[in-house]
Amino acid sequence: MPGFADRLNGIGVSASAAMTDKARELKAEGLKIVSLSSGEPDFPTPDHVVDAAIAAARGGDTKYPPQDGKPALKKAVQAKFLRENHLDYALDEILVGNGAKQIIFDAMMATCNAGDEVVLASPYWISYSDIARLCGAKPVQVPCPAEDNFRLSAKALDAAITPKTKWLLLNFPNNPTGACCPREDMEEIAAVLLKHPHVWIMTDDIYEHLIYDDFEFCTIAEVEPRLKDRVLTVNGVSKAYAMTGWRVGYCGGPRDLIAAMNNMQGQSTSGINTIAQAAAIAALEGPQDFLKERAAEYQSRRDLVVGLLNEIPGVTCHTPQGAFYVYPEIGACLGKTTPKGRHLATDADFVMALLEEKQVASVQGGAYGMSPFFRISYATDRETLKEGCRRIADFIASLT
Ligand code: PMP
Repeated sequence: MPGFADRLNGIGVSASAAMTDKARELKAEGLKIVSLSSGEPDFPTPDHVVDAAIAAARGGDTKYPPQDGKPALKKAVQAKFLRENHLDYALDEILVGNGAKQIIFDAMMATCNAGDEVVLASPYWISYSDIARLCGAKPVQVPCPAEDNFRLSAKALDAAITPKTKWLLLNFPNNPTGACCPREDMEEIAAVLLKHPHVWIMTDDIYEHLIYDDFEFCTIAEVEPRLKDRVLTVNGVSKAYAMTGWRVGYCGGPRDLIAAMNNMQGQSTSGINTIAQAAAIAALEGPQDFLKERAAEYQSRRDLVVGLLNEIPGVTCHTPQGAFYVYPEIGACLGKTTPKGRHLATDADFVMALLEEKQVASVQGGAYGMSPFFRISYATDRETLKEGCRRIADFIASLT
């Protein structure tokens, strides 16, 4: 067979996608799977957003778009940054992409050279490290320990930055822990970054609207305006507006970086689906009240899941203030054996046995850079959450 590119060496299917596929396989065999592995809202896309897409398609908005995004969407993004983040970006400092994921890919592809380092606050979203590797860079992890509520310490960050550091990636509220970054922490992180002017800073704010307990979200370019000319502020409509399948993300950043990323995009996608862009405009410019209502619903599901998990001997679950994930610690379960004779040496063994023996789909902490944990998404209904936690409790009780 003709060969493949070396850059794909070590790049695998993401663990959450692998888990979702395995769960689907078991479902097809007739098993009743409790799916807690998927990272997307269970709410539907709002009607006014769908209507805008239908109107765009019917109205002939079907030609090639400008590759950096339709002017009307860029204006909606500009207004969003100003309204919600007090960030003033010119239109040529804004880029629209096929989801936040493509924005992150464009940014690293446009900047990373072989040997560059990309610093990740760990645990981190699986794709960051694989995208860095695809772009020839080396992911470097800064542990954010569970006992600190998975917060990033400025001291640990400072120690991780070297002359080779190209990017620092921030993602609070965080996938997979749900951890948030209070303003005081962000100020300390910013003070460290001011000392290292060779480092680009990317903040992935995709979970901005999923925050609880009156936590106040902040983003680094707003907290420290002196960093703004090296910060890429990344966001998208997927999580806030329940639009994961529409594939629209966006960012604001320094003009030259945006131009380089646009160049990448021009040679790979020629821009974003026009109909999805019309939908994204409706999402950003339409009613915003439901965001708070949905966050309140997620908060009560969080309370339910954290409460149920902490009742299970052998599980310790922190209470996150954002996103829709919990990241319980399961060290006490390792070294044990399941009723079907599986030995649990790692959190990957734990989640696979939990799926095969109790039909609960979740994702191992190892995939996010920190073990022994597993990630549960609570973006699903309460009955499913209760049933999932009941099965997890039964599973753990059955280990010997
Ligand atoms: N960033 C994080 C932290 C995520 O968890 C996800 C989705 N799992 C994304 C980005 C991807 O967002 P999008 O759908 O806009 O590509």
